[in-house]
Amino acid sequence: MSLHELVGLNYTDLILDGVLNSTENAIKWLRKFGLISQERICHKCGSAMRLGRQANTADGQSWRCRKKECKTSSSIRKHSFFSRSNVSLVQCIRLIFLWAEGDNSVGKICRYTKLCNHTVIDWRGFLREICSEDLKRNAAPTGGPGQIVAINETRVAQLARRKPGSPSCRDESMWRRKRSVKNFFPEILEAIKRQYTL
Ligand SMILES: [Zn+2]
Repeated sequence: MSLHELVGLNYTDLILDGVLNSTENAIKWLRKFGLISQERICHKCGSAMRLGRQANTADGQSWRCRKKECKTSSSIRKHSFFSRSNVSLVQCIRLIFLWAEGDNSVGKICRYTKLCNHTVIDWRGFLREICSEDLKRNAAPTGGPGQIVAINETRVAQLARRKPGSPSCRDESMWRRKRSVKNFFPEILEAIKRQYTL
C-alpha cells in the first residue's frame, strides 16, 4: 500500500483507525505500509516464516519458521528502523507523528507519550539521521548540467565530512524546508522506508 495514502492523516485519524489502541493494530498498520516486514524468509533454512503470537517478546508477536525441524524465530523489528529502539510500536508511531508535526518541544512530546526526556531526545536524533541521509541521497549527482552537479558534489562532500550518524538540527530544518508540504508524517515515513530495506 502506498504511503501517499497517509497524506493529510492527523492524530484523530490514527486514533479513529485504532492504530494506537494496541500493539497488534500498530503492527498491522506498519506492515500494511511496509515499514516492518510483510513477509519473512528463514535465514537458516530458507523456508517461509509465519507471524504469530509470542508472549515473551515486547511486541507480543514474532516470526517463526514454518519448517518443523527448524522453528527459528525472528523479531518483527529485524532490519527495520524500529530495531533501533525498545519503545513500544504504538509509542514509536506517536513519536514519529509528534516529531513530524514540527513542534520540537521535547517536553510536549514527553507529555503526550509519557516517555522520558532521554528517550525522546534519542528518537529526535534517529529521525534527524533519517533527514540527513535523505538530504545526502537527494544531493547525489544525477548527471544534469555541470554547474548543478558541481553544487551537489559540494553538498555531498559537506555531508560526508560530518561524523556518521551525528544528529543534526540543521539537517532537519533543511529537510523540512525542501518540502512544500505541511504534513511531514508521510514524508518521514517514506524516507524511513527508502532507507530501511526489509
Ligand atoms: Zn527455518
